[in-house]
Amino acid sequence: MGKVSPVSSALFERSKRVVPGGVNSPVRAWNAVGGEPRYVARGDGSRIVDAEGREYIDYVCAWGPLILGHAPPAVVRAVVDAVPEGMGFGAPTSRELELAELVSERMPAVEQLRLVNSGTEATMSAVRLARGYTGRSKILKFDGCYHGHVDALLAKAGSGVASLSLPDSAGVPESFTGQTLIADFNDPESAGRLIRENHEDLAAVIVEPVCGNMGVTPPEPGFLEALREETRRHGIVLIFDEVITGFRVARGGAQERYGVTPDLTCLGKILGGGLPVGAFGGRRDIMSCLAPVGPVYQAGTLSGNPVTVAAGLATLEQLEAPGVYEGLEEKGRRLQEGLEATLGEGLPGTVNRVGSMLTLFLGPDRVASPDHARGCDRDRFARFFHGMLARGVYLPPSPFEALFVSLAHEDDDIAATVAAFADWAAEETALR
Ligand SMILES: *Cc1c(COP(=O)(O)O)cnc(C)c1O
Repeated sequence: MGKVSPVSSALFERSKRVVPGGVNSPVRAWNAVGGEPRYVARGDGSRIVDAEGREYIDYVCAWGPLILGHAPPAVVRAVVDAVPEGMGFGAPTSRELELAELVSERMPAVEQLRLVNSGTEATMSAVRLARGYTGRSKILKFDGCYHGHVDALLAKAGSGVASLSLPDSAGVPESFTGQTLIADFNDPESAGRLIRENHEDLAAVIVEPVCGNMGVTPPEPGFLEALREETRRHGIVLIFDEVITGFRVARGGAQERYGVTPDLTCLGKILGGGLPVGAFGGRRDIMSCLAPVGPVYQAGTLSGNPVTVAAGLATLEQLEAPGVYEGLEEKGRRLQEGLEATLGEGLPGTVNRVGSMLTLFLGPDRVASPDHARGCDRDRFARFFHGMLARGVYLPPSPFEALFVSLAHEDDDIAATVAAFADWAAEETALR
């Protein structure tokens, strides 16, 4: 039997010889859904084209950065114009300043901003800064939230004991995660208890204000507010990891949408317009602890790269057009309602959505915690993923990820996606 994707398959075989698992980030290998990844040849607007020349409506959107879709003309132009002026100097440029001003204007809590090169660097640096600022060593994170592959943040709750954390990866010594406490997302009691018990040693609480990394899970009313109150009471730095949500769920991110102000904010993804980026920023008194003014060391050869910054500036500029966020909300709502219309007794599940990020959970009827999310039907998800792929829709190859709708997704794309889902669902439920 011939392979469905001989070109991708041959590339994957070659890749596996020189790249571990054939990929530069694990989820790209499709382990959660089976089969071999499609190699992507190019993208345009809402669409990607694979190595065989097949087109798909794309809801991965580079895992979040591409809020304008693939290769948006304004961003492409900004990059093309920036390149011949020099691709890096290791000296300050006015563009970095402009980007910091734009972020600060959108997120007033970000009084000062430092650019780095990935979301991982942003959270790593924010945690170090919080520790330096407070002189304390422990941090608290939430089960189900992902903050990049920082050693201290690759921690999961030990069995049964929420306050005991174990490394999530080989190569991370227990002593590195031993200072990391784990609470349950959307459970202000578990967080409050850990904060009160450890407040003298606790430097920071870090949270995805909308969790995107266990599948989209919005904060329940009062959850973020409770974290704000408890951390303020004990002089603990509250860090919002807005690497996904920044400039996506509102012009000023989740902190604007939910009206809760963190001390530090981590950014990435959209901020780089598709090029590698991260940033962290916040209160001036905290940020002033960073070198060269303060004692907390942090640096980066390529930080503030002029081409990346040009792409970020152009992206944020496009997001200033009137009605942009209303449009994203409407597109997201349409997709959610379309998918929900097919869910039912034969195909139980639920759609969680915040603006233009959403997850379809097959199985549970409500997802507000990682335990709920883990209750989804993984085998059915794999069939769903491949069924949608065969119908021209490219989804994240894992049940615990967000779908991203971009401004380039037109009504027709969403209608075609909804129709593909109904078609797959008919086949799926007839079989069983
Ligand atoms: C993607 C992501 C990160 C890590 O960013 P990288 O650029 O992949 O290092 C951190 N936090 C959240 C919430 C993310 O979604």
